[in-house]
Amino acid sequence: MPLPVSPEILIVLGTRPEAIKLFPLIQRLQDHPRLRPVVVTTGQHKELVDYVLQEAGCEIAGDLGVGRPGLTLNQLSSSVIAGLDEFVAGRYGPPPERITGRVREDHYPAACIVHGDTSSAAAAAVAAFHLRIPVVHVEAGLRTGTTLSPFPEELNRQLVARIASFHAAPTRSNVQNLVREGVDIGRTFVTGNTGIDALQWAAAREVPYGRPELAWLEDDPTSRVVTVTAHRRESWGKGIASIARAVHRLADAHPGVRFVVPVHPNPRVAQTVRDELGDVDAVTLTAPMEYHTFARLLARSTLVITDSGGIQEEAPALGVPVLVARTTTERTEGVEAGTLELVGTDADTIVDAATRVLTDPAAHAAFSRQPNPYGDGRSAERIVDALEHLVFDSPVPRTSGPGFVRAQVLEWAGFHRSDAVDGPEFVREPSPADRVPQDLEDVVIAPRSTVDPYDAPAGTSSGGAPDGAAA
Ligand code: UDP
Repeated sequence: MPLPVSPEILIVLGTRPEAIKLFPLIQRLQDHPRLRPVVVTTGQHKELVDYVLQEAGCEIAGDLGVGRPGLTLNQLSSSVIAGLDEFVAGRYGPPPERITGRVREDHYPAACIVHGDTSSAAAAAVAAFHLRIPVVHVEAGLRTGTTLSPFPEELNRQLVARIASFHAAPTRSNVQNLVREGVDIGRTFVTGNTGIDALQWAAAREVPYGRPELAWLEDDPTSRVVTVTAHRRESWGKGIASIARAVHRLADAHPGVRFVVPVHPNPRVAQTVRDELGDVDAVTLTAPMEYHTFARLLARSTLVITDSGGIQEEAPALGVPVLVARTTTERTEGVEAGTLELVGTDADTIVDAATRVLTDPAAHAAFSRQPNPYGDGRSAERIVDALEHLVFDSPVPRTSGPGFVRAQVLEWAGFHRSDAVDGPEFVREPSPADRVPQDLEDVVIAPRSTVDPYDAPAGTSSGGAPDGAAA
């Protein structure tokens, strides 16, 4: 039976990476028969965000217009809070006195989705909390352990984690980070990274490369291609020169293989790369590429040599082996899974590892047949399944890791359970003053669990139907 109102899900985003990682979710919600996405851009990277969303066919409902150059973090945050407040008041009116769990009866957003660690995500989460809209955090649980690095992103993601009712975490270790900080495991869900969904979608579109130096790629479906990127600050100078020397040696040793190097615009990087590789026939140097064409290039590659963080997650999703030209990586799950090999910047080591992959099909397959720990391209689907379960009480989605508990999420979002004739009902009242503890004795501090949630004995974490939810 068609529902009278389709619950709306606010999605607030400001930067290009947020747009890239959220468009798969927006697309799915646009196609959803019952939920409707309402996309609000902050205006921070306006043209880039508009371009990504337009390419992906996503509609923008509002733009907060806060993207002035030279904005301080505090100006940005306060503008996003004020702007979202105004947008919500204009579209929905003030928060209703009473919000039932039967969200379809309320014309008020069922949730506000924010992504990752930007200041606009943190500000939007605060604004949504004040407006009594439950916050859903996508790409939750990444941590470095110090709030100063990266600044201000690490604190931003911790702030969002404190506020969010529901945490969509890319990996199990991201969930472990959250649980260590006291987040109920029942409010988390391992989804994979939506960036992988985005990449697979973008790569499949086969957008023309549109550059004369890459014209041969359009006409040559057979030559093997090695993609190389290097830009990290700690490699400037010697490290980049050594990576470039390794590429030169590989090009000399493997005549049938073509190398494509999108050159980072930093003059120190660009000069070093040009000096070493500018005159090598098998090497194509090009400027940094548009996301869609870069995704296509990755999909076309036999091997990637890179020091980039994002590419370590992306290339394995397309079955492409990655040699990581760094001595350490925070993507340890990929090294453990065998989709990445850490080779450092020593030219001999890079040449040896690349030669193995280029000459031995078994060595290539050892990388490409491993599942990518960062996602399988179905993250947006899992998040939408979880939203459906939360909003409509549809069956608990197939979980990845310990399951989440609808009642816990709704309670964190401020809903109180009451039992009605046709099943439990969750009702959110305005924040009553008497909920503030009057006395220290009223404050219950739950003991911190040191148990690894994935090692907990059966029954101690919530895998199945929640007892508090109307499953
Ligand atoms: N990327 C791109 N064009 C390029 C090189 C990279 O669109 O020429 C994309 C890549 O797919 C990934 C992101 O940029 O999504 C990674 O950027 P980068 O390597 O600069 O940074 P890091 O991930 O190390 O922060």
